[in-house]
Amino acid sequence: MIIKIDFMIIMYSITSIKAITNRYKMETSREQALRDILPGWHELVNSFYDAVDDWNLKHSDNLVIVTDIKQKWGDLRISFTPQIKELSDLYSTIKKKSGTICEICGCPGKHTDMDYNGSHWMYVLCKKHKKQHPIDYFERENY
Ligand SMILES: [Zn+2]
Repeated sequence: MIIKIDFMIIMYSITSIKAITNRYKMETSREQALRDILPGWHELVNSFYDAVDDWNLKHSDNLVIVTDIKQKWGDLRISFTPQIKELSDLYSTIKKKSGTICEICGCPGKHTDMDYNGSHWMYVLCKKHKKQHPIDYFERENY
């Protein structure tokens, strides 16, 4: 009987370790997100991670992780799991807002189509940064 219980505890521990490892592999940390996203949007990125941290403090039985965060078609895209209505609503607001904020400096901006080595890229840029290609900025600042 005791041996059987011990075995179950070991199996349970292995399952937990696997779950934690998978979680770690899937997760995009705040630090990683701030490296990947240009500085004009860092406030948006931080506001989402703050909300996730807040949620996780109150709901240790239903932890949320950010699995992906990127700029796509001039919007800030955030994937997270599980889907929580409160966070989904915040994400909708952040995504909409990102389309109006310059990715480089955080000033008011507009969706701007840019040509780079023959491919089109959509960015959100202010008047000043419209003249400066974000990829060049990205490389120069070593982000
Ligand atoms: Zn700007």
